[in-house]
Amino acid sequence: MKSALKKIQWLTVPVLSLTFFGSLLGLAFYIPRYGVHPAEPIFCFAFVYLVAMVVSGGYHRYFAHKAFQAHPILKMYYLIVGCAAMQQSALVWASDHRFHHRYVDTDKDPYDIKKGFWWAHIGWLLAEDPESRKTLLQNVPDLAKDRWVMWQHRYWVWISLPLSIGIPLLIGFWIGRPMGMFLWGVLLRIAVTHHTTFTINSIAHYFGKQPYSDANSARDVWWLAPILCGENYHNYHHCFQGDYRNGIRWYHWDPTKWALWIASKFGLAKGLQRTPQHLILKARVEMDLKRVGASAPVYDRLLALRQTLLDAAELYAKALKNYAEFKKSAAARSRESLKAAKANLHAQQAAFEAKWRQWRETVRVSFRSLQNSPGLG
Ligand SMILES: [Zn+2]
Ligand SMILES: [Zn+2]
Repeated sequence: MKSALKKIQWLTVPVLSLTFFGSLLGLAFYIPRYGVHPAEPIFCFAFVYLVAMVVSGGYHRYFAHKAFQAHPILKMYYLIVGCAAMQQSALVWASDHRFHHRYVDTDKDPYDIKKGFWWAHIGWLLAEDPESRKTLLQNVPDLAKDRWVMWQHRYWVWISLPLSIGIPLLIGFWIGRPMGMFLWGVLLRIAVTHHTTFTINSIAHYFGKQPYSDANSARDVWWLAPILCGENYHNYHHCFQGDYRNGIRWYHWDPTKWALWIASKFGLAKGLQRTPQHLILKARVEMDLKRVGASAPVYDRLLALRQTLLDAAELYAKALKNYAEFKKSAAARSRESLKAAKANLHAQQAAFEAKWRQWRETVRVSFRSLQNSPGLG
């Protein structure tokens, strides 16, 4: 009993309880009496999204995974606004997260889903094992050398208070509804920010599809897309954690990926890492084969098809690269030669897509729940 009490995080428990229960109970009493001012939900959810983009692009893809290089202005933006997430410093967050990837689904994974859905969602924060803290920060030597990261590590609580409480209250006084803004803009905003991040560790390791690998519990959960800024493509992310994208198709809702691409055009981000397409396709094909199973009647046919599909993908990737290089060359000034190069590219694309359709159709015969193609987008 004594050791169980020792494990309770006596600061985290009241913060998480007050924001969650305080906002729900407070609004249940407040709204029937005083109604809702449009500025309250607008501010609350705009702030939620702003912070979610910073946790996704900054804490996660930049500090934890180094999936791109950030200009000092972007880095400072991530460090300052990241404090409003109230999810520890970037240093601690990245350390926990690197352990999560390295030891996923084991005792050393801070949010190990094998200990249960609620442990992965919130339990690990409320009753953290002090032993696990001893190894914390060993895996972030690169971040520990950065003086701005260490500055944020020391002062993140003090930076967070004016952002998370001061600004919403100022707006609350300005519109004449400080209590309304306290409930919406402070308590509810923090609770929603917390629980949306937590769903990546719980829901995205529990429900959903595993199109790229079933080596660990990570899953793609398409319906979480609107609230998770692309972090819901978690099966892909655990396979290819260095990729700056989580949703790889153009239509995958991944605003972090789009924001980083735009930032790269303004020199705020560079070196955006992309996993080579043939590796993505290979992972997908191997996973299809595994799910179909060696005893399926179509298995041998799929084995034969696999090589022709991967060859077609390689030829298409080469054609894409050659075309990009050709466009820069002097020969491309001739309209005819450019037309011919383009025709070759289209032919390789069509050949690959035909092979992919054939693969998908063959798999579908045996495995009806096959999902969308990874393509070469
Ligand atoms: Zn994960
Ligand atoms: Zn990650």
